[in-house]
Amino acid sequence: MSAPLSRRRLLQQSAGLALAGCPRSGASARRVVVIGAGLAGLSCALELNRKGRGVQLLEASERVGGRVQTQRIGGLVVELGATRILAGHDRVHAYADLFGIERTPVDPDRAGIDLAVVQGQRVAPDGAIPGGLTPGEALAWQQGRLLELYLLPLMAQLGDPLRPGWPPPDLDALDRLSLAAYLASRGASEAAIALLTLGGLSGWVDRLGILQHARHVGLDDLSSPATWLVGGNDALTEALARALTGSLEVGAAVREIRVQRNGIARLSIERRGLLSTLEAGVVVAAVPLAALRRIRLVGLSSQVRRAIDETHYVEITQSNLSFSSRFWIERGLSGRLRTDRPLQEVWPQAGAPRADPRGILTNSTTGQAAIELGAMGEAERGTFLHEQLVMAFGGPVPEPTLLSTRAWHLDALIGGGWPVFGPGQGWIQRRLQQPDGPLWLAGDHASPWPGWMQGALYSGERVAQRILAEA
Ligand SMILES: Cc1cc2nc3c(=O)[nH]c(=O)nc-3n(C[C@H](O)[C@H](O)[C@H](O)COP(=O)(O)OP(=O)(O)OC[C@H]3O[C@@H](n4cnc5c(N)ncnc54)[C@H](O)[C@@H]3O)c2cc1C
Repeated sequence: MSAPLSRRRLLQQSAGLALAGCPRSGASARRVVVIGAGLAGLSCALELNRKGRGVQLLEASERVGGRVQTQRIGGLVVELGATRILAGHDRVHAYADLFGIERTPVDPDRAGIDLAVVQGQRVAPDGAIPGGLTPGEALAWQQGRLLELYLLPLMAQLGDPLRPGWPPPDLDALDRLSLAAYLASRGASEAAIALLTLGGLSGWVDRLGILQHARHVGLDDLSSPATWLVGGNDALTEALARALTGSLEVGAAVREIRVQRNGIARLSIERRGLLSTLEAGVVVAAVPLAALRRIRLVGLSSQVRRAIDETHYVEITQSNLSFSSRFWIERGLSGRLRTDRPLQEVWPQAGAPRADPRGILTNSTTGQAAIELGAMGEAERGTFLHEQLVMAFGGPVPEPTLLSTRAWHLDALIGGGWPVFGPGQGWIQRRLQQPDGPLWLAGDHASPWPGWMQGALYSGERVAQRILAEA
């Protein structure tokens, strides 16, 4: 695996910034600034560079990658953010291929039973039918078709979610429904709704619009095994950063974007407490909308302003636990676990060398439970997670070591896990794909895959193509 980008290298890449910042005739209008060096900003800058367009990429934190953050600790490699690469996520695979980065199954042991615990009842191992289901639901559950029972009829109505302008106005009636309201309107029992929203979804199900969920189910094949980049997902963000030919600067936080009457944007940038300004004819804001809310925005259309202000980001806390052995395998279990609150979702990660007996379980929890977990001290959190695992596994669980925790909603530069487009917010998804004067929005929120690396890369590439087409 390649060495991480050093601060010195990043500063070298940004050499020439001072010159670029000097006003030159016509230079401002031609200048392209990309804000945020997550996957969206990096791919956007790279695609522009590949077509010979110079770009200044500004990143507020001291590292690139954003919600992709790999941690190496005690011989183990774990992810604090994005982990799974789905088989159909072609943009992630294409960039990994471009840089020659190998993929490996997220869960190389993939065998054994997945556990589900709902309202205290462990529903998977003995094949028992969960209580409260209607006879039709019970049959569908036994056949593994509960999701299909309720969502399949909807799929035919969705149209092509990759078409710009999706969701079209003829989906407005559906757009007004949350996932829970849609399921209830189709006659789903409370028990079926609980089962269908088990795991990470349970923390934000009340806010989630049915269209966002149905699009995800339609686009993403969750049944094929997910992969992970060998050595950690930051191999991709580092490779993208290294491939840039324009400038990349870390520690440069954009504080204000002011769209002026002449259509040129004036940015205020803070570097180590010092403010300076820069003008650009094209600005790509590749930061989560929750972080964009912290930038002073002047001269934007009221619609874009509303879209930024009204999009909720899910609270999420992700923790990595290591165990002296992969104890779940001995019990015939896969280590994958989905519960209703508060543990929600647990899965094994591939980050231990194959010869190493240690096992890693990752927990991600969303919504109110994530807020509470994120607010705990480390010792309290470790004990809490252990107790929850004992309850969920229904028996003793070896004492884990809490390797790391990241509560993304507490990070002011990110503001949460991913956007939740709620009932009636189809217009926001349409609007985010259009520029507002010189300002373009990129990121998973401006793509058909909110909450996925695929979406960030797709939107970065797409914005770059459109900027090039308009030049
Ligand atoms: C816990 C968690 C688990 C996830 N799991 C998966 C998964 O398994 N698979 C998957 O595909 N995806 C997953 N995702 C989603 C995935 O990480 C994101 O969709 C993707 O990384 C978003 O990339 P981005 O470039 O749009 O935004 P980000 O990665 O958020 O990048 C935005 C960048 O902008 C910077 N920034 C913010 N404000 C400013 C400013 N004022 N000035 C300059 N820079 C600024 C930030 O520091 C950041 O670097 C997960 C996310 C989380 C949080």
